[in-house]
Order: sequence, then structure tokens, then C-alpha cells
Amino acid sequence: MQTLTLEQETNPWEAQAARFDFAAQKLNLDQGIWKVLRYPSRELIVHIPVGMDDGSIEVFTGYRVQHSVARGPAKGGIRYSPDVSLDEVRALASWMTWKCAVVNIPFGGAKGGVICDPKKMSQGELERMTRRYTAELMEFIGPEKDVPAPDMGTDEQTMAWIMDTYSMHMRQTVNAVVTGKPVNLGGSRGRKEATGRGVSVVCDEAIKHLGMSIDGCRVIIQGFGNVGSNSAKLLAQKGYTIIGIAEFDGGLYNPKGIDIPALIEHRKNAGTINGFTEAEAADKRELLTYNCEILIPAATENVITSKNADRIRCKILCEGANGPTTTIADEILADKRVFIIPDILANAGGVTTSYFEWVQDRMGYFWTEAEVNQRLDNIMTESFNDVVTYAQNHGVNNRIAAYMLAIDRVAYTTKQRGIYA
Ligand code: GLU
Repeated sequence: MQTLTLEQETNPWEAQAARFDFAAQKLNLDQGIWKVLRYPSRELIVHIPVGMDDGSIEVFTGYRVQHSVARGPAKGGIRYSPDVSLDEVRALASWMTWKCAVVNIPFGGAKGGVICDPKKMSQGELERMTRRYTAELMEFIGPEKDVPAPDMGTDEQTMAWIMDTYSMHMRQTVNAVVTGKPVNLGGSRGRKEATGRGVSVVCDEAIKHLGMSIDGCRVIIQGFGNVGSNSAKLLAQKGYTIIGIAEFDGGLYNPKGIDIPALIEHRKNAGTINGFTEAEAADKRELLTYNCEILIPAATENVITSKNADRIRCKILCEGANGPTTTIADEILADKRVFIIPDILANAGGVTTSYFEWVQDRMGYFWTEAEVNQRLDNIMTESFNDVVTYAQNHGVNNRIAAYMLAIDRVAYTTKQRGIYA
């Protein structure tokens, strides 16, 4: 096993690069193409002055990293969090390239982030920061260049401000510059639930593949934001039993199953999952180690590490979040024969419906929610089967299979386009 300090183990860029190098080596990737794909093609750092509500001026640091535009415009979310770093945004941008290639949609990969605590900022401050960040990125984003979307700490409203700011500079409404917008502004029906829906589809496929049944299939979800809550809602609707929910401020456990619509309602009123009387309180960290069939980390990176991987007791690990498992944890889980649905496949439902949104915006013609969901289900099912078949054919695990499949597709396009000189 590798020996790394916890800081090295949990550096998302190192985690991404380690998997990339391993998969590239397995693919026998040409050395030159290896160098091209290993690093992002463009990294922007902006310092964003914002007039705060108390009259002071604050300067926030923001990033936009475009890893690849080989297969189409760069694509990826914008994250607002105090923990954002350039290495994290780099890793997330690369993961977007691989994710879009795994589900075979015509985008490259990008990610943005601003170091800030959106929970401590007013709507006015967030709006001014978002507009100025957008203005700083004017030349670099656009429907044919780089298309942002929501990620942690950003939502439909953030996308509406970006769309409006970009449009004001362009002197015309350009709704295809971002995805994840409100439906009223050119957003796609089904986009909000799309990552959770994709998670539920790959869970269905995994249990079919492993010969398990939905009946009695116990699920624990870490994170109850957009991805976690929608995964919980849709899986419960399909008949899975959601026995545990872990949030940043507490956990809930009910072996008979948690009533998810009731919990969503409780959270709306109380602002937290805590105090929900139809489940017992549980330690948010310990919940990850409870016995269950499916564990879904759906919050942040580095949740399953060398510190807890040996105590994980699920059969299927479905990564709703980006980078929740470290490379050392991967090795431990492999020994325990946990079936992993890797992040770049499991959470690709969001960007896939973003692709549908971009297509609909450019056509100016909008599909019904049923049409969007059907197309999403088809792509997720097909991609799951592509990855699992690739893993079987090449004798590698699902994560490496997903990377190999993605790298191969991006490398093929890069070679075909050639290197511009
Ligand atoms: N932030 C999401 C992700 O990590 C969605 C990206 C998008 O829709 O462009 O996949």
C-alpha cells in the first residue's frame, strides 16, 4: 500500500492525477498525449472586489480552470466554499473532462470556484460577487467556449445572475452561457433532480448486475443537499429503504426506512435534518460504517479515506459526490470486494441534463420533463453498461475502467485534431 500523509492522501489533484496516470499506463497512452491530458489547458485566477452590506469592500479570490476543450466547449460547475483551492478546482475540472467523456456528451471539462462562505453572505452580496466574477470571466466563457453550471454553494439563482450579467455585456440574451438556470429563463425541466436521478438509475443497474433486489435494499446517504436529497427521494420512490442520512450537522437512522418526503418537509421548516422525530439521531461519521447494501457519499471530497475504509460495510458504493474516496481507500475497498460506481459515472446525470439544457437553449425549443428523464435514463444505463463491460474485458475495476474509457475517447479526439502550432 502507498505511504502518504493524510494531507497528501486528501489532495484532490493528487487523487485525480494518480488515477489518471494508472489508467493512462494501462492504456499504453502515447507519452505526448499523456502530457497534454494530464494538466489543465487554462487556469484563471481573479480577485473580485465586492461592496459589502456594511459599506466595506471585500476582495474574494476566484478561479476558473478549463482542463480540456478537445471534445467541445469546456463544461463544469462553479463552487462557492471557504475551502476552495486551485488544486481542488483543477481536479474537479479534470474530472469534468472524464465525466463528459464517460457519458459521451460533446463537452470538455472545466470548473470554477470562489473562496467565500455563501452561508454568511446576504443575497445582495452574493449577487454582486457573482456578477463581478462573471464580468472578470467575460472573454473566457460563452455557449461555444465554456459553460458553467451550479455546484456546491451555488444554485439556479446564481446561474440566473451569471446569464443576465453575460447577456448585458453581449447586449442580447444568451441563455446557453450557463446551465442549471430556472426553467423560466431557459433552464431544462428535470435539471434540478438530474444528478439524483442519474444516481438512482446506476443503483438500479448495479443491483441488477449483482443479482440483488430492490426489496430489502438498504441505503445510507451522506449529504442532503441537491444530490443527496434527490437521490433519497427518487430511490425511496423506487422502493429502496433509506435507513440513514448523514449531514454536516448531524445524522439520522431508522432501520425500517426514513420517510424522505417528510424529512424534506422537516428540513424546509427547521433548516436542519436534526430533530426529525421519525428516526433516531446517529453520529454522522459512524453512519458511513453501518451495515447497508448501498452507501452514497453525496457531499464533498475525501469522506472515505485510510482512516475509515476498513470499517465500511456496504456492498455497493455509489459516488454521488466528486472525489469522495481517496486512492488508498480504493485499495482497501477493493480488498473488501465493494462494488464501486465511480463518481465520473455515478454523478454524471447532472452534466448530462446540462447538455440537454444547452441543446434546448440553442434550439429555442423545450422538451417535456418526461422526454428529458427518458433521455437521461437511456444515457446513464448505457454508460453504466459501457463501464462495467470495459472493466470485465480489461480486467480492471470500475473506476479505472471509467478513466480508461474516458481518456481513450479524449485522446482519440486530441490525436485526430492534431496539435496546433
Ligand atoms: N457541478 C456538477 C458536476 O460536478 C454539474 C456540472 C454541469 O452541469 O456542468 O457534475
